[in-house]
Amino acid sequence: MFCFQCQETAKNKGCTVKGVCGKPEETANLQDLLIYVLRGVAIYGDKLKDLGISDKETGLFAAQALFTTITNANWDDERFVVKIREGLRRRDQLRDKFLAVYKEKNGKNFDEPLHDSAIWSSDDVAEFDEKAKSVGVLATENEDVRSLRELLIIGLKGVAAYADHAAILGFEKDEIYDFIMEALASTTKDLSVDEMVGIVMKCGEIAVNTMALLDEANTSAYGHPEITEVNIGVRNNPGVLISGHDLKDMEELLKQTEGTGVDVYTHGEMLPANYYPAFKKYDHFVGNYGGSWWNQNKEFESFNGPILMTTNCIIPMKKDNTYQDRIFTTGMTGYPGVKHIPDRLEGGAKDFSEMIELAKKCDPPTEIETGKIVGGFARNQVLALADKVVDAVKSGAIKRFVVMAGCDGRQKSRNYYTEVAQNLPKDTIILTAGCAKYRYNKLDLGDIGGIPRVLDAGQCNDCYSLAVIALKLKEVFELDDINDLPISFDIAWYEQKAVAVLLALLFLGVKGIRLGPTLPAFLSPTVVNVLVENFDIKPIDTVEADIEAMMKGE
Ligand code: SF4
Ligand code: SF4
Repeated sequence: MFCFQCQETAKNKGCTVKGVCGKPEETANLQDLLIYVLRGVAIYGDKLKDLGISDKETGLFAAQALFTTITNANWDDERFVVKIREGLRRRDQLRDKFLAVYKEKNGKNFDEPLHDSAIWSSDDVAEFDEKAKSVGVLATENEDVRSLRELLIIGLKGVAAYADHAAILGFEKDEIYDFIMEALASTTKDLSVDEMVGIVMKCGEIAVNTMALLDEANTSAYGHPEITEVNIGVRNNPGVLISGHDLKDMEELLKQTEGTGVDVYTHGEMLPANYYPAFKKYDHFVGNYGGSWWNQNKEFESFNGPILMTTNCIIPMKKDNTYQDRIFTTGMTGYPGVKHIPDRLEGGAKDFSEMIELAKKCDPPTEIETGKIVGGFARNQVLALADKVVDAVKSGAIKRFVVMAGCDGRQKSRNYYTEVAQNLPKDTIILTAGCAKYRYNKLDLGDIGGIPRVLDAGQCNDCYSLAVIALKLKEVFELDDINDLPISFDIAWYEQKAVAVLLALLFLGVKGIRLGPTLPAFLSPTVVNVLVENFDIKPIDTVEADIEAMMKGE
């Protein structure tokens, strides 16, 4: 196996025996083969697109399949085998469709050579494993071509996850699915460096559009996030814990638990559900339990009740865990031996009754902390405070905004983000989204004239809100360039959604981003140079040096 898609990859080079995340070789191989099959699907999808035909259903399939390969999303080899088989079937259907349309338009059969991924086929799982060994990341020998192709595919995985979240709420765009086809197909072609860089930048544009679509989907279904004090203590009823990003699952779980005596708590990236008006109205929605994803081995033990994983991140359970029988997956997540709640049927809802019945037999959650955290500063709420914010900047009460959005993770080096938050001058505001916030959202960092010093916009996809806020400030201050604002970007990354967010920021013209705790292993020295020259991307330094530089606007 060879995998270097996340920040904790072995020695910041690549996992070759077993993932640092726990991913076994067999799973890594199946994921590689699935990506390869998707390339074959995309070759025909892209050709059909050129003939003016988009296939929405296959576009969504490709998005969901990409999503399953995100770090900590799906550990179930059987699900990958099913997806590979479905991919091959869909590829052949698209091929037949393409060949027919081509012949009709050109009056002759298509006879150009095709990439192996458009042709190879098998139904034998042993052959899947064998084939996987020759089609993974290292199959591309040139280090820089490999780097650009993988940067694209890794960013595309993030886009795909956000596209799936939006599709669940009924929001889809041909443009996104068409790009997934174009991007995957591009990795089977001999393109120039400029062409590859161009398509990576287009991935950033599509990431912006996909996050905007998801923002529209979430806010039109559940209202605009608003300032909220979220309880982090517990009550004395049994509870269900819900993690991940899927707000439709949240809605259905709240409806189905209402009046049952079972409380609902969020974990990890579901914390921002507490900020939505549509969910706040439920009395049995108690608050948030615990911290970010990597604390789950401990926190799922003490929660005592059932846990629903709606999207990444589910991590391997310890051998002596007590929660395997009360954790459930749904959507694109999966874990061998864990009950999977099937998708809703058209017009229906998912059935969480088994989980709710189980919850009634469980003890209430064990209290691990008490108090409140404040969040809900997505674009609408911040823009409602715009006058106050602008006045504070003009008066000098706010000297600088520091965007510390992105991911959390288990590496000790991430204490950097806690220390930056603690040591930034008191006249700075931290803008955040994603699970990076857990590094500092329980510290008492105070406020500036009533504006909290940590403004949490929501989930990682809500970085879109941060971009809207920055663009609005640019307009208010009548600046030509977003980089002239008193904003610094100190971004933490862990997995592929964060790469999509990073490409989105680059597409929006943001320069001088600090990226940590390490630069991605999939960036070759040449590609790093391209990013440094064009976007002034830099690795993090010491807390002191970075704070000093950021306060000078460097
Ligand atoms: S997802 Fe990350 S930790 Fe897991 S195998 Fe890949 S690079 Fe390694
Ligand atoms: S913030 Fe990062 S680690 Fe957390 S879910 Fe989003 S991409 Fe994953």
